[in-house]
Amino acid sequence: MSPEEFRKYGRAVVDWVADYMETVEDHPVRSRVKPGEIRSMLPLAPPAEGEEFDAILRDLDDVIMPGITHWQSPNFFAYFPANVSGPSILGELVSAALGVQGMMWITSPACTELETHVLDWLVDMLGLPERFRSTTAGGGVIQDTASSATLCALLAARERATSFAANASGVDRPLVAYTSSQAHSSVEKAMMIAGVGRERLRLVDVDGSFAMRPGALDAAIRRDVDAGGTPFFVCATVGTTSSTAIDPLPEIGRICRRSRLWLHVDAAMAGTAALCPEFRWIHDGLETADSYCFNPHKWMFTNFDCDCFWVADRAELINTLSILPEYLKNEATATGAVIDYRDWHIPLGRRFRALKLWFVIRSFGVEGLRRRVREHVRLAQDFARRVAADDRFELAVAPPLSLVCFRHVAGDETTGRLMDDLNDTGRVYLTHTRLGDALYIRMSIGQANTTEDHVDRAWALIDELAPR
Ligand SMILES: *Cc1c(COP(=O)(O)O)cnc(C)c1O
Repeated sequence: MSPEEFRKYGRAVVDWVADYMETVEDHPVRSRVKPGEIRSMLPLAPPAEGEEFDAILRDLDDVIMPGITHWQSPNFFAYFPANVSGPSILGELVSAALGVQGMMWITSPACTELETHVLDWLVDMLGLPERFRSTTAGGGVIQDTASSATLCALLAARERATSFAANASGVDRPLVAYTSSQAHSSVEKAMMIAGVGRERLRLVDVDGSFAMRPGALDAAIRRDVDAGGTPFFVCATVGTTSSTAIDPLPEIGRICRRSRLWLHVDAAMAGTAALCPEFRWIHDGLETADSYCFNPHKWMFTNFDCDCFWVADRAELINTLSILPEYLKNEATATGAVIDYRDWHIPLGRRFRALKLWFVIRSFGVEGLRRRVREHVRLAQDFARRVAADDRFELAVAPPLSLVCFRHVAGDETTGRLMDDLNDTGRVYLTHTRLGDALYIRMSIGQANTTEDHVDRAWALIDELAPR
């Protein structure tokens, strides 16, 4: 494709994207295809010779779009959002065009320096502890996902506990980690991948708001020490995936300090709320954490993938993940004057993700981001009031932020059927969770373009379809 052709088709694709933005609400929110339906429309063999670009664009509409679930629909209330925005898409486009491989400072200085700078901005924007700033012993890095950030934190914790022995058997006592029974599955996965073993993860009991009980954590640690184990890692959650429960960081931090355990805080979704000073209480106690992550690719209008991960002591992370083969040696690295982010995560190569984040922060402005987050929380609180006032429904808990979990009082079967009926209309998409023993519908309000009208219409539909 010549630059001239790129200009032509690039314009066509940008028009296609803008049309999609304008018409996203015309599609059923959740894709209706059956398993195998998309593949059945694809040719068995790839084309031997290049095809016309117009033909590819046609198939985008005819073959691909029926199999898309519209995460960018303002009627998408499922899971947690995976928002994009105009500035973010354009940042992604430029990043794709530059095709920079940012593994080291020398491989594109701007890729590293912009990332460091934007992550320092975010320390201010979210009111994070000073010790995460790059000008201290700590610092931040962009990872693909919260799952990867949690794995890196766990690996660094393992190295701390085993004094950087050649392998985890450097300690003769079994390592043990802790998280709440409501934590994300990525903690258990990290235990498997790190070779510590999922059976060494204690799922600590939660209170009535589904937040970790510090007393239960303390007791579990003492039990494991008495049994000859080596506690090494605690993952607390600020905003669980099921219900946005917020673990009490001050108490958990005190326990971790006393026993010298690595404390990682996973705020994948809820962290974005701290843009607003009135929601910063969610991070009370974060000053004692060794590491922290949140996902701008959820609620901060930045295309997937983009997870921001900070550590209080970057040397511990770098010593865990650094290997320097001959072919990567260079003067800038040798002088120690630069950051080489390849040592801050698992892969060697890395995309220029800071660009889209920079586009987003500059285009929205901090106040622009705050206004949207505030509005989502307000809409969710209003929605919760309506649910609570209707005696067909009950709330799981008073929603801390923008996720409302509710159920039909007639029980799991009626609740499940209501959710299926809602989703079958194609006009909304909601998903479920289990809290305690009961099934709940999750109404997650955080899609970039969701307004009061969308929430009103969703409520009207729920009101209409819920049995009386
Ligand atoms: C969404 C979520 C994750 C997983 O995020 P990825 O970036 O997809 O790995 C982890 N923890 C919590 C609390 C989440 O809500």
